[in-house]
Amino acid sequence: MSYNLSQSSLGKLTGVDANLQKVIKRAIELTEQDFMVLQGMRTREECSINYGKGRTAQECTAKGVPAQYAQPNLAKVTWLRDPYGSKHTQGKAVDIVPYPLDWNDLSKYQKIATAMKRAASELNVKVTWGGDWATSKDYPHFEV
Ligand SMILES: [Zn+2]
Repeated sequence: MSYNLSQSSLGKLTGVDANLQKVIKRAIELTEQDFMVLQGMRTREECSINYGKGRTAQECTAKGVPAQYAQPNLAKVTWLRDPYGSKHTQGKAVDIVPYPLDWNDLSKYQKIATAMKRAASELNVKVTWGGDWATSKDYPHFEV
């Protein structure tokens, strides 16, 4: 069993930390569960859009997000204290999901994490998995 990163996944690694890229490229060779990169680098614009979902103009401006991004009728997608504080903005994080996409089967995320951890240890890179966080677990998220 051997998988390859798609062109789309490779494209999403642009601007991502070189060591984290190496770990992902090794992990795809080791993994029992095929995966794809959903997001790497996140721009300020994307952070503003994310933060505005589920928040009022007032809640946005209180955190330095321009009011125009407020979309209070949508579901919230981020709980960051600093809307621009995500490691994604520095290219130090990636979100990886099973291929074909499956948001529900956690065993698939566990398999991806197993491969990522093996690759990280082989390459001597310290990688943190959002699935290991004590609170507000983030299963697709890996950061250096
Ligand atoms: Zn993430």
